[in-house]
Amino acid sequence: MSDSLFADASQRLERALKYVCLSEDTTERLKFPKSSLVVSIPVRMDNGSLKIFQGYRVRYDDTRGPTKGGVRYYTSVSLDEVTSLAFWMTFKCAVLNLPFGGAKGGITVNPKELSKLELERLSRGYVDAIADFIGPDIDIPAPDVYTNPMIMGWMMDQYSIIRRQLCTGVVTGKPIALGGSLGRDTATATGAFFVLEIIMAKLSQFPANTTVAIQGFGNAGATLAQLLAQAGYKVVAVSDSQGGIYAKNGLDIPSVRQFKESNKSVKAVYCEGSVCNIVEHDIISNEELLTLDVDVLIPAALENQITVENAKTIKAKYIFEVANGPITSEADRILEERGIRIIPDILVNAGGVTVSYFEWVQNRSGLYWTLEEVNLRLKQKMIAETEEIWSLSQELAISMRTAAYVHGLNRLGEAINAKGTRD
Ligand code: GLU
Repeated sequence: MSDSLFADASQRLERALKYVCLSEDTTERLKFPKSSLVVSIPVRMDNGSLKIFQGYRVRYDDTRGPTKGGVRYYTSVSLDEVTSLAFWMTFKCAVLNLPFGGAKGGITVNPKELSKLELERLSRGYVDAIADFIGPDIDIPAPDVYTNPMIMGWMMDQYSIIRRQLCTGVVTGKPIALGGSLGRDTATATGAFFVLEIIMAKLSQFPANTTVAIQGFGNAGATLAQLLAQAGYKVVAVSDSQGGIYAKNGLDIPSVRQFKESNKSVKAVYCEGSVCNIVEHDIISNEELLTLDVDVLIPAALENQITVENAKTIKAKYIFEVANGPITSEADRILEERGIRIIPDILVNAGGVTVSYFEWVQNRSGLYWTLEEVNLRLKQKMIAETEEIWSLSQELAISMRTAAYVHGLNRLGEAINAKGTRD
């Protein structure tokens, strides 16, 4: 893998450029983020001390509309990571034809070590620091790894305090009581489920004969596991940051979810031999989960999980990327050569930002939709774009990843050309 995550992410752009007709100017523009902000956030800790946290917000490209993307709270957050994630958001929004550009934000922090009040002060401090960089028509943050509706509510409130008016449209993924959209919390998983169903049908791979392993049992992974199990797929393995569990005849997902909630880890639950409806199972590591002999592998945790180190040992036939960037570009080539089909992140996990768009539309119009309406619109969008990317990949004989980039690039290129140059 390249030293920089962003350099690695850019490889995908290079591969797709061969199949689109873009001017040199357009290509050059897409190689760099529009603007990047690095901030220090002073936070008064509960014990009276002052601690400074590093925060970031990168706006990658805003040609197609205000920039959009989540805010991540994690120890490994860096400017390089946030830039890559902002780049992916640019393509994701174009792939789904949302009137948004791409952005991302983050704070280098382990949120599990903070009290609720410290977390609130940190979140409000972050908004204080980036307030001039965001806005309902400029840049709209949302949840990502280890951020949630409660944090989005604080951020929206802080921005509204600064502007002295209620600005619901500045952040998405808010609590329903503060202008959030129904269905936003399950949107990433629901969107991924729609994509998986279409692709599986095209490949004549039926639920009852399909085994699935999911790495990551957070909001997206756990909800998707449930949707798949309900639809008749055999979810044989799941894991979280502590480790995982495997049962060859399939896990009882509702009880795994229930125990994860009370014990914090799927692994701990099973180790303690609770009296739930548990089938016989093995404890496995995250690395072992990735190399299981299953039909479908779903990385739903963090980036860089499949690299040159383990790409040769992957046995799954299909990989659906629910996480952003779980496969490095070099690993991509190895998997492709081995005939493993990858359905890319910028399509598979785009349900989240799609319902974020619906939330923003509802905030601006003041008319709120039912859950059925949200899910129906989400389904229509996911199906339409999956079909287009599938056709492109067949026509040009390219991978679904390159086809998704080509699809996004066509829309981005058209917008950049239409705007003309000011130089
Ligand atoms: N963080 C999510 C993503 O990576 C959602 C972004 C959003 O809703 O703006 O797609």
